[in-house]
Amino acid sequence: MANPTSIAIVGLGKIARDQHLPSIAANDAFRLIATASPHNRLEHVPAYKDTAELLGARTDVEAVALCTTPQVRYEAARLALEHGCHVLLEKPPGATLGEVHALVELAAGKGVTLLASWHSRFANGVEPARAWLASRRIMRVSVAWQEDVRVWHPGQTWIWKAGGLGVFDPGINALSILTRIIPGNVVLRDATLYFPSNCECPIAATVNLGDQHGAPIHMDLNFRHTGTESWDIQVETDDGTLLLSKGASALQINGQAIAVAQATEYSRLYAHFAGLIGAHRSDTDMAPFTLVADAFLCGRRVEVEPFSE
Ligand code: NAP
Repeated sequence: MANPTSIAIVGLGKIARDQHLPSIAANDAFRLIATASPHNRLEHVPAYKDTAELLGARTDVEAVALCTTPQVRYEAARLALEHGCHVLLEKPPGATLGEVHALVELAAGKGVTLLASWHSRFANGVEPARAWLASRRIMRVSVAWQEDVRVWHPGQTWIWKAGGLGVFDPGINALSILTRIIPGNVVLRDATLYFPSNCECPIAATVNLGDQHGAPIHMDLNFRHTGTESWDIQVETDDGTLLLSKGASALQINGQAIAVAQATEYSRLYAHFAGLIGAHRSDTDMAPFTLVADAFLCGRRVEVEPFSE
């Protein structure tokens, strides 16, 4: 077996601790050798305050997982790619489309792997749903992505700052699933974005999209939801109805639960990253991020009451 890839985690926040650390520990293809984070560190793992300090001090970093807030992702990714590291970008892959295009070119020029990761695409139901939909005509899609921001993002002030995406931070997960399971391109038709008067990003949005044949796709994104979360995608076809629920971890077809292979999203994500590195390839699908950018570009803006934690 090949030597494990020496990897550093940049940005030691919630997702790094909840998912990246255990997934790296469980995958023989990687070995965690350092972290870079302004305030946080792990016991027994060499720690640096940012990517520049990390790469200035260490010549043995072969890959980095960028788990920072999106607003600082580009500079860290650019530095890592310049140093010849393979790079895994958490979602969203940057703050702007231009940043990500620049990173794609840089990675290609350096001959290293760039993964613009979409963890929700690795949920248990996604590939079976994609396979089932591949041969069916889609009539209508409805997406409900509704959660309580105070429960899921407590204290994450970056989410309300420009580039933090607001409700599109979870909403982009729905779009990443949608653009994987629906055959062909998905385009934006219109959107309405609800901005709290004291925030730079929306707290809710309705988004209307169309598939390659013009079938309507309606999305309700809501951060003001209380009670049980809805992370559901329902697809009506000419041959029955498919439902992905619980963030696509569960699949039903015509009301019948379908058994799907079980694994965590991030274990599959790291297996994918290892495979890309081994095959000298990148995976930089921009479709989910492009649709979010289009919603900000063309969406109608409505001001709503201020948000407080
Ligand atoms: P978070 O808990 O706020 O963590 C972000 C971390 O980024 C902070 O711990 C901060 O480190 C670090 N950071 C900020 N600037 C940095 C810099 N210049 N260099 C290095 N590190 C820097 O946020 P999160 O929830 O983990 O989310 C991070 C990203 O993961 C977001 O893009 C989010 O969409 C994505 N994501 C989150 C979840 C989730 O469930 N939370 C799930 C999937 C994906 P210090 O604390 O050391 O200052």
